[in-house]
Amino acid sequence: MDTKFIFLTGGVVSSVGKGVTAAAIGRLLKERGFKLAIQKLDPYINVDPGTMSPYQHGEVFVLDDGAETDLDLGHYERFVDISLNRLCNVTTGQVYAEVISKERRGDYLGGTIQVIPHITNEIKNRIHQAARSTGAEILLVEVGGTVGDIEGLPFLEALRQMRGEAGAGNSLYIHVTWLPHIGATGELKTKPTQHSVRELRSIGISPDVIIARSDYPIEQELCDKIALFCDVEPRAVVPMVTADFLYEIPLLLEEAGVGEYLLERLGLQARTRPNWKPWQKMVAEIRKPRPPVQIALVGKYVELHDAYMSVREALRHAALAIGVEENITWIHSTDLEKSRDLEALAQADGILVPGGFGERGIEGKIVAARYARENRIPYLGLCLGMQLMVVEFARAVLGDEEANSTEFDPATPHPVIDLMPDQRQLTDMGGTMRLGLYPCRLQPGSIAARAYGCEEVQERHRHRFEFKNAYRKVLEDAGMRFSGLSPDGRLVEIAELADHPFMLGTQFHPEFLSRPTRPHPLFVAFMQAARERADSR
Ligand code: GLN
Repeated sequence: MDTKFIFLTGGVVSSVGKGVTAAAIGRLLKERGFKLAIQKLDPYINVDPGTMSPYQHGEVFVLDDGAETDLDLGHYERFVDISLNRLCNVTTGQVYAEVISKERRGDYLGGTIQVIPHITNEIKNRIHQAARSTGAEILLVEVGGTVGDIEGLPFLEALRQMRGEAGAGNSLYIHVTWLPHIGATGELKTKPTQHSVRELRSIGISPDVIIARSDYPIEQELCDKIALFCDVEPRAVVPMVTADFLYEIPLLLEEAGVGEYLLERLGLQARTRPNWKPWQKMVAEIRKPRPPVQIALVGKYVELHDAYMSVREALRHAALAIGVEENITWIHSTDLEKSRDLEALAQADGILVPGGFGERGIEGKIVAARYARENRIPYLGLCLGMQLMVVEFARAVLGDEEANSTEFDPATPHPVIDLMPDQRQLTDMGGTMRLGLYPCRLQPGSIAARAYGCEEVQERHRHRFEFKNAYRKVLEDAGMRFSGLSPDGRLVEIAELADHPFMLGTQFHPEFLSRPTRPHPLFVAFMQAARERADSR
């Protein structure tokens, strides 16, 4: 079968949950037995978000193949339970870099290189490559930003051209908009949606489906009005009221008949009857009151929860799996440096230190690790959180508070964490870390091996620094176990403390592989330990 395309654009305002909508639609199609992939087109000029501050862009999500991507790819993978590849996140930066390098090679034989057709052709190439490389029968393509953005225009033009090229009935445009609520009259307004559809039309795209987001219930009358003014069938206007929980959205869209409608418009028959039972069970579980477990998340971007999107989701998946509710206290690591928030640590049933870069707040995270170790509070360290757990332990064992990672103190007398040898010569910052899936062998009988229930795992990485093996023996003698190693034994992937209820750190990022119906074993083990602490109090 030829690939079918579903294009998603956004209107009115950004941050209306277009990414989650795409992910949820993906689920509807998967439930009907189709092989699909989801691609995000990001109009910014960075080649990827890997070099961007989480404050700018939220979390950087990492794929199996090591691509550093937009956090929406995390939603796609979690909702659909698929693994995507680097072609599934395209940016203006990538497109221009490719076109310019072709021009320098002389590939265009004297032509004048222009946005249309050269840039738009490159965008279309990447859409087709994503479809081919994933073997998708249906490719969902989400365009970042909002219709009307100058930088999004070449992408929209490429999508416009795709309709004709894909052939009749092989493509579909979904426009996700926002209905503002006017407090004084208690009304929802459709005018911005009408304007945004007009804007889309002016560049030659007529939406087939409009998903209208709102914080308030949307009357049928309003949907009919949108249908009339925007020239779509009334059935094709889908009201989407803000859900309490993200994972409810596929069920809401299913109920609104979106799955059937999309197939009908694409001329497809469902191959399987959707089986929503496991998903419904998960959502019912989310809605149930569950005993709370307090998790202190100690980071430096805590004002922006999106910076820890996958960590938060992985905690939720694990909590659901064992029937507790994760209550996250967001702790700013710099606050711990001023000793302000130790009380919050004392209240915690579990302490989590996620990944991060740069010096700010490092000592605060070490305070958290020390507090967890000394007070026997379950601790999970992810990447930087593992490195700092090692630094803290080394400081205690060696009796030298100057032990450190060379990332933060290049002159430390005890560089227990140091730059990886193959990182030393690098000058480019983008895409040069140790990235993506690598195998890790587990030490039989360790906490990690018991959690996973197997001997070897594959996990996703994103780091430049590593544990320095010269310190293995002295730390091992003091009770640290290096329970996960690369198969050649050279690289420490997991460290854990033997004499502690649960103190474990991973050099990799387990959060990227956690799924709502397949929680990550290490998060489950951590949550279980936290629960035991909560129960004992
Ligand atoms: N800054 C550390 C390193 O580069 C940790 C990276 C991370 O937490 N993702 O190794």
